Amino acid sequence: MIKITLPDGAVKEVEKGTTPMEVAKSISEGLARNVISAKFNDTVVETVTPLTSDGTLTLYTWSNDEGKKAFWHSTSHVVAQALEELYPGIKLTIGPAIENGFYYDVDFGDRSISEKDFPQIEKKALEIARGKHDYKMRSVSKADALSYYKEQGNEYKVELIENLEDGTITFCDHSSFTDLCRGGHIPNTGIIKAIKLLSVAGAYWRGDENNKQLTRVYGISFPKQKELTEYLHLLEEAKKRDHRKLGKELELFTFSQKVGQGLPLWLPNGAALRERLEQFLKKAQKKAGYEMVVTPHIGQKELYVTSGHYAKYGEDSFQPIHTPKEDEEFLLKPMNCPHHCEIYNSHPFSYKDLPKRYAEFGTVYRYEQSGELHGLTRVRGFTQDDAHIFCTTEQLNDEFKNVIDLTLYVLNSLGFEDFTAQVSVRDLENPDKYIGNTDDWEKAEQAIISAAEEKGLNYVVESGEAAFYGPKLDFMIKDALGRNWQLGTIQVDYNLPKRFDLTYKGSDNELHRPVMIHRAPFGSMERFVALLLEHTGGNFPLWLIPTQAIVLPVSEKHEKYAEKVLNSLENHEIRALIDNRNETVGKKIREAELKKIPFMIIVGEQEEESATISVRRHGGDDLGSLSVDAFSDLVTTEINSTLKSF
Ligand SMILES: [Zn+2]
Ligand SMILES: [Zn+2]
Repeated sequence: MIKITLPDGAVKEVEKGTTPMEVAKSISEGLARNVISAKFNDTVVETVTPLTSDGTLTLYTWSNDEGKKAFWHSTSHVVAQALEELYPGIKLTIGPAIENGFYYDVDFGDRSISEKDFPQIEKKALEIARGKHDYKMRSVSKADALSYYKEQGNEYKVELIENLEDGTITFCDHSSFTDLCRGGHIPNTGIIKAIKLLSVAGAYWRGDENNKQLTRVYGISFPKQKELTEYLHLLEEAKKRDHRKLGKELELFTFSQKVGQGLPLWLPNGAALRERLEQFLKKAQKKAGYEMVVTPHIGQKELYVTSGHYAKYGEDSFQPIHTPKEDEEFLLKPMNCPHHCEIYNSHPFSYKDLPKRYAEFGTVYRYEQSGELHGLTRVRGFTQDDAHIFCTTEQLNDEFKNVIDLTLYVLNSLGFEDFTAQVSVRDLENPDKYIGNTDDWEKAEQAIISAAEEKGLNYVVESGEAAFYGPKLDFMIKDALGRNWQLGTIQVDYNLPKRFDLTYKGSDNELHRPVMIHRAPFGSMERFVALLLEHTGGNFPLWLIPTQAIVLPVSEKHEKYAEKVLNSLENHEIRALIDNRNETVGKKIREAELKKIPFMIIVGEQEEESATISVRRHGGDDLGSLSVDAFSDLVTTEINSTLKSF
């Protein structure tokens, strides 16, 4: 008999040779129906692998990431088989699962495939899947494995096998198809009900551009046709909401090759949006006891040697700037923290002065390879809504609660409702990895966990995920399309206070080291605006949107009245524009819709006579005719429903 420990701690005593699937059956038939893959003692196994020793077993279903991975990788075998049947003589290389789906790299020889071949390949793959073939792993000797692929003339698999050790090589068979594979499959192909190929791209063998270019076929699969339909809809929606596309349409930002890659240029609409976001946060921060500071965009190289950032960013980032005389060296600042440490150092503090909270919308520069740059989410210059809190260990809990309050306020005001938090703590088995003393770490971790608890956050604690210099709390935001974004990190730091020799005088009259907290609820203005665009599809909350209303006169005759209305809207502090081009009202409405302006104010004969306005909501709702006062009340009510005061 062997002892199998399950993730909930339960121990099952089973006969040696029992498979994960049999363990699942012994728990419940329902579970067994859903189990598609398993892990035994940190190794991925098949659901039919006999277990021969004591150990920990995790069973995965489609709802686990690991389950999806096995599902998608297994589908790659089926697609490879379909390709081989449709294009005899091609050479298969590797076919792993990726974050969303899988790919297979194939040498098509003289042939090539394109998207128009997809339906035929999908059809063939699905036919194979419907055969409900079991995935069967078998061990092969290195010699046999090599001769199998040499016979096929597949130099890629031969190369892979040559790098493997004899005795560790396995093949996976299903139907009449065999592939070199480490394992990690679903029980049989019948579970795969929907297969979709998504794209083809070139990919060098082993990622090396000196090697032959292969064809990478991307695809995804699902246990239900309905899930594929939903996924494709989501892809469509994501394309429509791509922040690079919306940023152009709404005239928020642009890039110029002349200015340089990864350096966003904010257009007037975008700058106004940023300004409002900044004002919004500044106002809340002021109430939360922060003080604004301003620091330059560069600093002496020595500053970053002291902070340790030079060691981290120096070689791989923008190179030092040299002065013409005096041989000075400066760096573009990759972080604001060192500057803020020196602000702290400019004044002696006693325990009664703490906490000190310095905030700055500080622009930083980090080199990213051009291939890594992406819209506003990966850039080379960006502005952090940065702040550093210097406090005592005893104050950590209150400070964390404050920052959590501020972050939740930001998220709620901007329409994010779905989020979780992660507290990252030490790996207790490797205490040497961390700087600072154990007692402080324990207190800090406890302070964060109880702050998360007291604030009612939905959080998990991940051990071993802390940085070497301190524990932290991250927010994970789910956007409207269900994608996760990490945001609003609150990081404790024992490292910089030591490196900058920061002190305060305690009640015992001795000098003590303060704890430092880094935090940025938005992260950066660039990434946050990208997230907001993709989350809202450009329909920003009313308090934030650049143009809240547009006045559309029905004809030239009503232009005067339209101007009067515009004026009156402005007096009510409504951000409005007028469209008095000589176009039909229908056309003006369509264009205002595309610009996602929340309210269209239509004025003509009737409105002018009754001194009212006709209001149409973005998306088509007709709000009827109102006085400007009544409309202004409506706008204020809506703003107050999302933008509470902090
Ligand atoms: Zn496989
Ligand atoms: Zn910092």
